[in-house]
Amino acid sequence: MSTESKGTAIVTGASSGIGEVYAQRLADRGYDLILVARRLDRLEALGRKITERTGRKVQALQADLTSRADLAKVEALLANDSSITLLVNNAGISLEGSVLENDAANIEKILAINTVAPTVLTAEAAQQFVKRNKGAIINIASVLAFAPEMMDGIYSGTKSHLLNVTLGLASRLQGTNVHVQAVLPGATKSEIWENSGKDPEALLPGMVMETADLVDAALLGFDRGEVVTIPPLHDEGQYKAYNDARVAMGPNLSRKEVAPRYRA
Ligand code: NAP
Repeated sequence: MSTESKGTAIVTGASSGIGEVYAQRLADRGYDLILVARRLDRLEALGRKITERTGRKVQALQADLTSRADLAKVEALLANDSSITLLVNNAGISLEGSVLENDAANIEKILAINTVAPTVLTAEAAQQFVKRNKGAIINIASVLAFAPEMMDGIYSGTKSHLLNVTLGLASRLQGTNVHVQAVLPGATKSEIWENSGKDPEALLPGMVMETADLVDAALLGFDRGEVVTIPPLHDEGQYKAYNDARVAMGPNLSRKEVAPRYRA
């Protein structure tokens, strides 16, 4: 446990699951905390527990990240509190079914929480951190970013969006003292499954990671300066091969001439 303050970390979705473990671990590492979610009672109880155990300052902020006004409150903290050195964009929801089963309200809700909120907060944090040349952003995406066929394309799309935002920003941050990391969990034990009426152990027997193991691995990747951390993927070469192929395509993606296979 560290006694030296590392500044303040904002953790969204800290009222349960992965975010709750991040809050605990970051306090152990010496961060004061601002915990964000809708369930204020849970945030306050967690805050008291953390302060008792670590002595770190913890503020609970009730915010529904689908609300533009609530999102603006978190943006304002990032803009005005120069003690903030870390943003963990963790809040997220899953969605039952694909575009064949969902209406506009469901789709807009998941896009607001999983896509708009973390992107807006990443932008505000990155702009502030670049000005100070100090700070880090952790974006909790998902392995489903690579697997739109596995469940449904909508959730997968929100997570590939966040992965792309992270990769794009990482390329812009080269040479600065500001770091961005995307964490891609596989199935991890948390309320997200209960909330969508699924039992992960029944669906994926022997494949579900504990939240503590996930966060500890992700923080190890963070300490190593990784831009993409995939704790469940044992063969790192598979991601490297995938990413190298993607990057290699880059110079070939725009041409004046139509590719020969499309010439009439
Ligand atoms: P979780 O236990 O359900 O936690 C989700 C968190 O997001 C809660 O703290 C919840 O707080 C918050 N949240 C949900 N809707 C919100 C809203 N409208 N406004 C503000 N906060 C909201 O699930 P988790 O598994 O820990 O999920 C954390 C992240 O990991 C998510 O981004 C998820 O997509 C990602 N992930 C999870 C898995 C998995 O298998 N568990 C796999 C890959 C990626 P309130 O309800 O109190 O608002």
